[in-house]
Amino acid sequence: VAETVACDLLVLGAGPGGYAAAFRAADLGLDTVLVERYPTLGGVCLNVGCIPSKALLHTAQISQEAKALAAHGITFGAPQIDLNKLRAFKSGVISKLTGGLAQMAKARKVRVIEGRGEFTDAHQLVIQTAAGQTQQLKFKQAIIAAGSQSIALPFMPDDPRIVDSTGALELRQIPQRMLVIGGGIIGLEMATVYSALGAQVDIVEMADHLMAGADRDLVKVWQKFNTPRLGQIMLQTKTVRAEAKEDGIHVGFEGAAAPREAQCYDLVLVAVGRQPNGHRIGADKAGVQVNQRGFISVDSQQRTSVPHIFAIGDIVGQPMLAHKAVHEGHIAAEVAAGKKAYFDAQQIPSVAYTDPEVAWTGKTEAECQAEGVQYGKAVFPWAASGRAIANGRDEGFTKLIFDQATQRVIGGGIVGTSAGDLISELCLAIEMGADAVDIGKTIHPHPTLGESIGMAAELFEGVCTDLP
Ligand code: FAD
Repeated sequence: VAETVACDLLVLGAGPGGYAAAFRAADLGLDTVLVERYPTLGGVCLNVGCIPSKALLHTAQISQEAKALAAHGITFGAPQIDLNKLRAFKSGVISKLTGGLAQMAKARKVRVIEGRGEFTDAHQLVIQTAAGQTQQLKFKQAIIAAGSQSIALPFMPDDPRIVDSTGALELRQIPQRMLVIGGGIIGLEMATVYSALGAQVDIVEMADHLMAGADRDLVKVWQKFNTPRLGQIMLQTKTVRAEAKEDGIHVGFEGAAAPREAQCYDLVLVAVGRQPNGHRIGADKAGVQVNQRGFISVDSQQRTSVPHIFAIGDIVGQPMLAHKAVHEGHIAAEVAAGKKAYFDAQQIPSVAYTDPEVAWTGKTEAECQAEGVQYGKAVFPWAASGRAIANGRDEGFTKLIFDQATQRVIGGGIVGTSAGDLISELCLAIEMGADAVDIGKTIHPHPTLGESIGMAAELFEGVCTDLP
């Protein structure tokens, strides 16, 4: 057993939630130790999530755009794909960012311990270090940021041709036929990458629509655009069996769009959701309550059932998104440092970085309807946007959702190229309590896609009348 280390604050897990919390805590003067089982900081997001997927999506997007230029009179030859180089590009992006994090930790004197941590009581953690030693850590306060992992399908055989998102991001091969199980954001992003690289991709989804959480009108545009690019999109269909054979993985389906025969695939991606790591950290020994699914419930200051232990990020619940983890990390660190911080966000944006992108924030129409919120909406079709037309990509639209009584914007969605970047204006508008007049009377630059937000607001009743 190596020596016992003591600190003011332990942060368990160095994903976006954990490193954001550790850095903020150190900036506020707490002596902080960050424990991470993997050799690099950044967690799922940097190493096997947000960042590598975006590096590949960017590449995929450009190669698709180059193809589309044929309609503008410029033709390129078929792309020559060097997978080793593409992989090296992706790895380079990751190491640049994880290296940056390591430097930031050092600059703040955050002590990083590489190893797997488990609570032994409410003030102690035992760490199996990467060097094979056991280290004791005594802490005054702790922030749990141990994240989540992919859910596996129990009937799937153990075969290298069946992968989760981490395996898909390794980009070992470009399959001829690929199946994506799960039509959520992660599945659709990977479908976008592999189909741009030349695979024929089928998607199977149990629900009656793709991209759960997004309003259907947004998804419809995505689906119309992608139907010619993809193989089959099987909605209301379940994957029920799979068999590994020499010629591929034979997969059987049941449901509305199920093909009668089993289908054969060179690669199968299982992207059916993620489960929190709450039951893998000895939380019970610290007295921290974890629900059956592995989530840790917290109050508005990110405190668990044990007041000096906080939890943040994927492990505390949906939406499992990096920016939510970072925000919660800052709150937990500030509260641990004695500040009066609270989780009080009015909105958390979601983005599918597919082609086209789909982004939404605040209340969706479906939520307004379910909750009985009296709302109005304004939709600006990109077919009327000079910039979208000039880009040759006018299939999208911008939608704002207003509270009917106050005309304040309470939600919105955008489908189209760069929707993920555009949605930020709506995030700010919701947080600032902006109404239709505030947005409609704001001069937006012309010709931009962002202008579609101002134009949508102007379409809302009352915006063109006299100001009060
Ligand atoms: P994680 O990032 O999961 O980090 C937890 C860390 O804790 C890990 O590094 C883990 O090794 C460590 N850990 C766990 N248990 C222990 C232990 N016992 N001891 C020591 N260390 C431990 N989100 C977005 O917002 N935008 C995106 O574009 C996006 N794309 C994604 C793409 C993919 C393919 C995937 C899988 C996810 C994506 N996400 C995206 C989700 C995002 O990655 C997560 O929401 C985010 O990483 C959660 O951060 P976290 O800090 O809660 O946990």
